[in-house]
Amino acid sequence: MIPPIARRFVAGETAAAAMDHARQLNDDGVGAILNLLGEHYEARGPADEDADTYRDLLAELGATDLDACISVKPSQLGLDVGEALFRENLGRVVDAAAEHDRFVWVDMEDHTTTDATLDAFETQVRRYPEMGLCLQANLERTPGDVERLADLPGKVRLVKGAYEEPADIAYTDKARVDAAYRDLLELAFETFDGGVAVGSHDPEMIALAGDLHEAYGTDYEVQMLMGVREDAQRELAADGVTVYQYAPYGTRWLSYFYRRVMERKENALFALRAVVSG
Ligand SMILES: Cc1cc2nc3c(=O)[nH]c(=O)nc-3n(C[C@H](O)[C@H](O)[C@H](O)COP(=O)(O)OP(=O)(O)OC[C@H]3O[C@@H](n4cnc5c(N)ncnc54)[C@H](O)[C@@H]3O)c2cc1C
Repeated sequence: MIPPIARRFVAGETAAAAMDHARQLNDDGVGAILNLLGEHYEARGPADEDADTYRDLLAELGATDLDACISVKPSQLGLDVGEALFRENLGRVVDAAAEHDRFVWVDMEDHTTTDATLDAFETQVRRYPEMGLCLQANLERTPGDVERLADLPGKVRLVKGAYEEPADIAYTDKARVDAAYRDLLELAFETFDGGVAVGSHDPEMIALAGDLHEAYGTDYEVQMLMGVREDAQRELAADGVTVYQYAPYGTRWLSYFYRRVMERKENALFALRAVVSG
């Protein structure tokens, strides 16, 4: 059972709970990106299992009218075991998505996985264009990767980057990452036909995306995490912006919840208050 304190960030332990959450979001005009919690598997078993769970979820979503899609992590589908296993499992997930007409996002993990993730994504998006890949502004290589993706079908999700990366390949200063994000957003709006997702809670970047949409006409959507700026998610949707909430679910919620709480003082205070008030 997920304790009430963690329910702000995690949609539940089961697919049924995740789909209930998606329904509530849809009622407020917000789409759902469902992510089964799990990463860094060192054996084939759990990677195959998560791929199967996603296939079942896609079949269940396909039988509904929910505005909901999925987002998968490469190491959840077996990348730490080997690139071949990741490619195989991603292919199986994408087969199910194609059968049930659902969109698939691929998350991006640390820089050691970027090439393998781009390569596997490229193979799949050529088969099934209803896909998108996350790229990170903190990596110096990313402008080249935006250009590579722009030549393919599919969408890009731009984020600032959640992983600590070596200073010789990444920007480590926050102001520099923000500047890189602004530049990449403009590059993406300029070069992408498929659509751009702004994976950020930052009001400045969201406003900039609105301006770039006016300037270039490129379709875009704002994506934010469950439990973070939820009022803003609903307000943007009410203003006519396409908004998707990334909502994790599953039994492996503890480390995800811990990361959310530790990344921001307000979240830590929220957790402390919940514990103190019982
Ligand atoms: C949908 C989604 C998918 C993601 N996928 C990936 C991925 O695949 N790979 C990856 O490396 N990273 C991913 N990330 C994480 C991302 O890289 C950042 O680490 C994370 O989003 C924090 O950066 P930020 O742009 O939201 O803004 P920050 O720079 O953290 O914050 C900027 C401003 O946003 C507002 N803000 C931010 N957080 C809060 C809050 N909790 N409450 C209130 N206001 C807040 C504040 O005004 C703050 O000053 C994803 C993020 C999202 C939203």
